[in-house]
Amino acid sequence: MTLPVLDRIRNFGIISHIDAGKTTVSERFLFYTGEIHKMGEVHEGSATMDWMDQEQERGITITATATVCHWKDWWFNLIDTPGHIDFTIEVERSLRALDGALAIFSAVEGVQSQSESVWRQAGRYNVPRICLINKMDRTGADFRAVLEQMRSQLMARPVLMQWPVGEEGNFRGIVDLLRGTALLFGDKPEQPPEEAPVPEELAAEVAEARERLVEVAADYDEEILTAFLEGEPVTTERLVAAIRRGTLAGEIFPVFLGSALRNRGMQPLLDAIGLFLPSPLDRPTATAHPLDRPDESLDITCDPEGPACALAFKVISDEGRKLTYLRLYAGSIEPGTTLLNSRTGEQEKIARLFRMHAHKRERLDRACAGDIVAATGLKNALTGDTLCAVEQPVRLSGLSIPEPVVSIA
Ligand code: GDP
Repeated sequence: MTLPVLDRIRNFGIISHIDAGKTTVSERFLFYTGEIHKMGEVHEGSATMDWMDQEQERGITITATATVCHWKDWWFNLIDTPGHIDFTIEVERSLRALDGALAIFSAVEGVQSQSESVWRQAGRYNVPRICLINKMDRTGADFRAVLEQMRSQLMARPVLMQWPVGEEGNFRGIVDLLRGTALLFGDKPEQPPEEAPVPEELAAEVAEARERLVEVAADYDEEILTAFLEGEPVTTERLVAAIRRGTLAGEIFPVFLGSALRNRGMQPLLDAIGLFLPSPLDRPTATAHPLDRPDESLDITCDPEGPACALAFKVISDEGRKLTYLRLYAGSIEPGTTLLNSRTGEQEKIARLFRMHAHKRERLDRACAGDIVAATGLKNALTGDTLCAVEQPVRLSGLSIPEPVVSIA
């Protein structure tokens, strides 16, 4: 069993309007990170994350679970946020567990009313976001219009990170505006994109777009500002660090381009999740209230050595057994650990701990602060409950009202 290194963890979810491509993107992520070896056809209901019968019938995702996957030396916990308008309460619940989000817009349909509501929910929870403009291969794809809608409808400040090579059906690559090089996609999904010089006919547009990017980065780094004003070059690392700072502050939203269906742009997008979304250490500390002094607040720092504090963000019945998804804010837990349920005041014991993969569950003998795991044995825990160390009884603040167990058996 390997434990994740805290600053390499990315607990993130995908938020989007139904049909923008969330299922396809999730599945591509699992494919490129080696979690699945074959890509299913989403519309036939065989997508790996869509495993509830009810979901497969409707072709939508209504539960919030977490799947682990590894990309380079990052550790991704992909939290499945529901996309359907009826389930926004579920979206709120999963937003509590994640640290960052990938927002997907369709290059054709753009920002739709439902993307607006999920975007605002993410804003309320101060969740930093990067964006994918998907379906760049489709006729009528117009990333500029989507950027404009982000500004006018979402009041957001998008930062274009890539420029497309080829349009619509001929969308065959992207120019990485940070590095100033092009990446051309292969025909086979497993082929890594090939580096190439920026096509000459795009040189002027790319130079202009890169200048805009550097200008935004300059807002977050004085040295970039000086270099920018004096026409000096700036290193890619410095630009990444500046854009990351603005993204974590929730002020800017890096935008990437792709076509999930055609496996285009997915590897650079995985890099972007690692580079620009926060680790648990980058997030503000969670706030809790001591049970005997509810008017007082206590900061729960992401410290594996501290008293345990976890949020049960999803409770499901899996193969007849209750499985509780936990976001661990502090401390570490093991099978046999006794936790206090701050809602019931009762103590509960963890029987088993699991890390959930796309097709299997991995038994864990320990889980630490910052991670997301599933536990059995917590008989009375409901979604929204705080489970904490007996010696430090607290309730995490601002949690939604618990709901009965959803059965998938
Ligand atoms: P979700 O509802 O957001 O999960 O969207 P899906 O992933 O189920 O995608 C909705 C539909 O759009 C499906 O028919 C996909 O095959 C299709 N789709 C997804 N991504 C792309 C893309 O990049 N290009 C095209 N042309 N179609 C796509």
